[in-house]
Amino acid sequence: MPQSDWVWFFDLDNTLHDASARIFRKLDGTITAFMCERLGLDAASADALRVDYWQRYGATLSGLVRHHGIKVEHYVSATHAFIHEGAVSDWVMVTRGLARALAVLPGRKILLTNAPAPYALRVLAALALSRAFERVIAIEAMHVHGALRPKPSRTLLRVAAADVGVRARNAILVEDSLANLKAARAIGWRTVFVSGFLRPSPKVRIYRPSFVDLQVKSVAQLALRYRGLS
Ligand SMILES: [Mg+2]
Repeated sequence: MPQSDWVWFFDLDNTLHDASARIFRKLDGTITAFMCERLGLDAASADALRVDYWQRYGATLSGLVRHHGIKVEHYVSATHAFIHEGAVSDWVMVTRGLARALAVLPGRKILLTNAPAPYALRVLAALALSRAFERVIAIEAMHVHGALRPKPSRTLLRVAAADVGVRARNAILVEDSLANLKAARAIGWRTVFVSGFLRPSPKVRIYRPSFVDLQVKSVAQLALRYRGLS
């Protein structure tokens, strides 16, 4: 099939930039503080519940909506507002040549992130990628039949592909999350595992998971090796 028919779905955090270094540490704190206040928990319990929801649902917000009736907009403004304060360069680590590396890839590019839209747009701007994606699908747009269904929901992936107008065999998910890649493969997408920003770094991976078509350290490396996907 022609590569020009491909549609790339890119994750944001720890795929396009190193979120572990600063942003995730800050977010862990703002989310835990929000949960303490809204759920009346002490810090240790809130922290444990935050991690539990993130692992169970792919996004802490899903658990907060489902089990505590938290409103998406309240969560977003309370936890992600810091990205609009001060210099965004305090938070985002910029990799040089990222826009060029993305431009090398044939086909259309969509951003598919479990993060909120205002945050995603701000980080994209900091990375000089505001025009790199034809569409940004953020967590506010991940409602399926009235329920919040972030990645790794297969239903969400199917709906996103239908919205964008791509067949599963032409869709490619580029991600640092193995759970999300596994879901994408289960519905017939191709998968690229970006492992360079993960901590601890999974350097020694003797067996690449069967649902990973290509493993790269970065998007720059993907620009050199994407032909291996066809
Ligand atoms: Mg990620």
